[in-house]
Amino acid sequence: MSEELVYLDYAATTPVDSAVVDLMVSLMRGGAANASSSHLPGRRAAAAVATATGQLAELVNCDADRLIWTSGATESDNLAIVGAARYRERRGRHLITMPTEHKAVTDASSALEGQGFEVTWLTPKPDGLLDLAELENAIRSDTQLVSVMHVNNETGVVQDIGAIGELCRANDVLYHVDAAQGLGKLPIDLSTLPVDLMSFTAHKLYGPKGIGALYIADQPGCHVEPLLFGGGQQRRIRPGTLPVPLIAAFGLAAEIAMQTMQADLAHITALASRLWEGLRDLPGVHLNGSADQRFAGILNVSADDVEGESLMLALEPLCVATGSACNSQSQEPSAVLRALGRSDALAQSAIRFSIGRPTTSAEIELAVERYRDAVGRLRALAPGQAA
Ligand SMILES: *Cc1c(COP(=O)(O)O)cnc(C)c1O
Repeated sequence: MSEELVYLDYAATTPVDSAVVDLMVSLMRGGAANASSSHLPGRRAAAAVATATGQLAELVNCDADRLIWTSGATESDNLAIVGAARYRERRGRHLITMPTEHKAVTDASSALEGQGFEVTWLTPKPDGLLDLAELENAIRSDTQLVSVMHVNNETGVVQDIGAIGELCRANDVLYHVDAAQGLGKLPIDLSTLPVDLMSFTAHKLYGPKGIGALYIADQPGCHVEPLLFGGGQQRRIRPGTLPVPLIAAFGLAAEIAMQTMQADLAHITALASRLWEGLRDLPGVHLNGSADQRFAGILNVSADDVEGESLMLALEPLCVATGSACNSQSQEPSAVLRALGRSDALAQSAIRFSIGRPTTSAEIELAVERYRDAVGRLRALAPGQAA
């Protein structure tokens, strides 16, 4: 197919901003520099790290010394959940999370279940949102940690992290938020949010893969045991030689996001509205997740009587995700959509469109046209088959 690809998978990863690439390359070409060394190149590297830490701290309005650099949100989630559970295990071994979390949270929680911790899995309401009353009922005297994400990576549903955090603070329970999808797309103000631990990653925000961060609040009882041991960097919480070009790149991506967030959101919201307007009148098409408590950049749509993998192939040249990109090797229907009460068939027909800063209205028009055409063709080929 000679047609140009239309990338609508920004929730899986984003292209690296060209100013960010330039900065990264210039630092990589700049010669040897270990941010722990006290000679001049070392001090320059340390200064670049300090600048980047300040940029990310400003984006989320926290003190720079509350941020720990990691390899990405997977590591941040693991460090937060496993690290906090181990730090607080003498007080209790009970955690609360949801089946709709990213695998980095659910699998870290399951691993703890195998190590003598107890996990309560809260089923969301059909719109994907957490029921606060259910959370309140689930909190026990031995509960140490609640992990509920900001923007869901499959559906775009936005949890009320302020209300969840207040409930946790009132019960002396730590609150961890996976904010990989929301960072730099929706405002996050850690000076007012009652959140103890928050995970970030650069590559969902036009930065490179392989660099993330964990925010650890300056709160009593809020600390994590390290998962790695080594040269003592980052107050021993996450040792290892700092990847200065990646850190600087994340910092610049955060600064760009701070400047463009409002315009990005307006652009993405307008395109998403057009996309959904173009699809919603097709018979048997369903939006997955809340229609209003959502980040516009992720639109997850199921259709009666079609199968997701065939649909995705029929949608070429659109690059979209079916079920969860992280699960694309498996034929299992998305656990997230199943937890929202979708049937196996509807979950399997789901297509996730995700829109980014570079998306154009021409691409959205093509997506509408292709989706309508593909659903029509597949239904004509196998009427009622997938029902
Ligand atoms: C992408 C993503 C992750 C994993 O981040 P990596 O940096 O790729 O490890 C974790 N949680 C959510 C919600 C994500 O979207």
